[in-house]
Amino acid sequence: MTKPYVFITRKIETEVLKEWTETFEVKMWEYEERPVPRAILLEEAAKADALLTMLSDKMDRELLDVAKNLKVIANLAVGYDNIDVPSATEKGITVCNTPDVLTDTTADLAFALLMATARRIVEAAEIVKEGKWTGWSPMLLAGHDIHHKTIGVVGMGKIGETVAKRATGFDMDILYHNRSRNVAAEERLGARYTSFEELITTSDFIVCLTPLTNETAGMFNKEAFMKMKQSAIFINVARGAVADEEALYEALVKGEIAGAGLDVFKQEPIGPDHPLLTLPNVVALPHIGSASVETRQGMIMLCLDNITHVLSGKQPKTIVKL
Ligand code: NAP
Repeated sequence: MTKPYVFITRKIETEVLKEWTETFEVKMWEYEERPVPRAILLEEAAKADALLTMLSDKMDRELLDVAKNLKVIANLAVGYDNIDVPSATEKGITVCNTPDVLTDTTADLAFALLMATARRIVEAAEIVKEGKWTGWSPMLLAGHDIHHKTIGVVGMGKIGETVAKRATGFDMDILYHNRSRNVAAEERLGARYTSFEELITTSDFIVCLTPLTNETAGMFNKEAFMKMKQSAIFINVARGAVADEEALYEALVKGEIAGAGLDVFKQEPIGPDHPLLTLPNVVALPHIGSASVETRQGMIMLCLDNITHVLSGKQPKTIVKL
């Protein structure tokens, strides 16, 4: 009997794959840092029973139409905005993601980014390394306090709640906005539910952790940045397209807000000439929210487990539902 064919769209450690190669024929794209070209992805999708995909792979209608044998897409991310889930579902293809395993790691990064932006840590470290530190002075690299300030979490789901939990250790007031209330977070963390409008006007730190959907795309627009405090710091660890980057740039240049910490961008990788990268009050990271060795290994294992479950007719551990 021929083994089911699994294509992995990036190079991952072959050691991890050992037990799976007994059951599946496994092939992977040969580079870790370079995405698989579209033409090859289409070719592989046409043969594959399962695809282990990255958030940079566009799994659209064109691809799903050629993927005649495909039974499961296991995306190495909790977000699945790169996948046309309605079309996959219509074709009977199961879509899986990696929630939970990355929650704490991503929350750690979000809070680290908040701290780095508020306390100008990257700028300060660069000054020392570049030999530009000429001596102590009272206001040298003075940043913004974090403790006892107000954090506003837009998207108080698994990661948002875990960021808020970290904020309690800094004696912060916690506001949040979702479409529906997260009563557990209110009871556990003393978080207060509020409108988007009130959250953005009253928070010192506005942290976005919603999925990217038609509703959230561009929700941080010119009007939203104008309503924020001049001392506000915007942190985006969700997806780049939830913010209008031109409006964000304008708001930072005009001093309408004080800073931004960004792990995600509309176009990734962000070009080196992007205006946002010219600003000293922007801390920019290359989409590393869940990037710890332990968590990335956990995510890969979860994807492989999900593929095994679906191909053996069982319910996957983490399925994306419409
Ligand atoms: P989750 O548990 O599903 O939480 C998402 C939250 O967003 C929910 O509380 C949801 O509440 C809220 N939400 C959805 N639509 C909204 C809207 N229109 N307005 C306001 N709130 C809305 O997901 P999670 O595991 O915390 O992950 C959240 C997102 O983080 C992912 O989708 C992904 O894009 C991003 N992420 C990024 C990285 C990174 O490396 N930077 C890593 C992991 C995850 P309601 O449904 O009640 O609105």
